Amino acid sequence: MTYRSTVLLFLLFITSIGSSQNLQELDVLDVFDEKIGEQKIGIFAENKAHCAITVFIDFPKKQNVTISEQLPFTYVVPANTEKQLIMTVTTKKGLKSSFQYGYTFFLGDTKNAAHNDEFVYSLPFEKDTEILLGQGYRGKFSHHNIMALDFNLNKGSNVYAARGGVVAFVKSDSNRGCTNESCRDAANYIIIQHDDGSFGQYVHLKLNGSKVKPGQKVKKGDLIGYSGNTGWSSGPHLHFEVFVPQNNFYMTVPTRFQTGKDTIEYLEEGKAYMAF
Ligand SMILES: [Zn+2]
Repeated sequence: MTYRSTVLLFLLFITSIGSSQNLQELDVLDVFDEKIGEQKIGIFAENKAHCAITVFIDFPKKQNVTISEQLPFTYVVPANTEKQLIMTVTTKKGLKSSFQYGYTFFLGDTKNAAHNDEFVYSLPFEKDTEILLGQGYRGKFSHHNIMALDFNLNKGSNVYAARGGVVAFVKSDSNRGCTNESCRDAANYIIIQHDDGSFGQYVHLKLNGSKVKPGQKVKKGDLIGYSGNTGWSSGPHLHFEVFVPQNNFYMTVPTRFQTGKDTIEYLEEGKAYMAF
């Protein structure tokens, strides 16, 4: 029996639309095949991330094979999962079989993630300090298509969790930043998964500017890191966004903040806010 398989990433699907970072390049998910029986090949997944990952698998080419699942196949690989069999391919006896499959993935459980719009976030900086919101939702400078906020924090300023959750990813080894897109992948960041399946992302942190590690639980208001100017950035600031994984993109969403004892509001570009 001979079979041929090739794993290919669905390049067309690979997009970071809706999120400021290219999350598809994170080295967190492996999908691979292994022979598991006389005429059976298993497709396995391994998830090294501290959050679930939804993988989408399809077979653009298949000849004389039976596939155990309906295609395209969607599967949620739980956080920290070693080698899990997710589907099988059976070749037809006596016939020359071949197949080719590809996959793409999104962080989180795309079917069950939904942002709780009622949640009240806290401003991610020092209490009793007034900070200008340099760029708001769909801002003209670099937020054209995303619901993200840029707080004009000085380099080294404390960054606090706007909402609690589990730290999913941390990048803090970059010391590079510049004003053009070539520095996009050089940004340090912390990504925290919330209990509704959405993620909060804190970007442009300084070198070694994370106080937290993947897998760690954090509460709203915990000190998580230090602001900086790494990545694609025109000056020191903290970029904050909340995104919800969808089947083909990361949807960023606006969030309400507590800005005073009795004030809860959506933030506006050009206004200064005091962390309460
Ligand atoms: Zn930004």
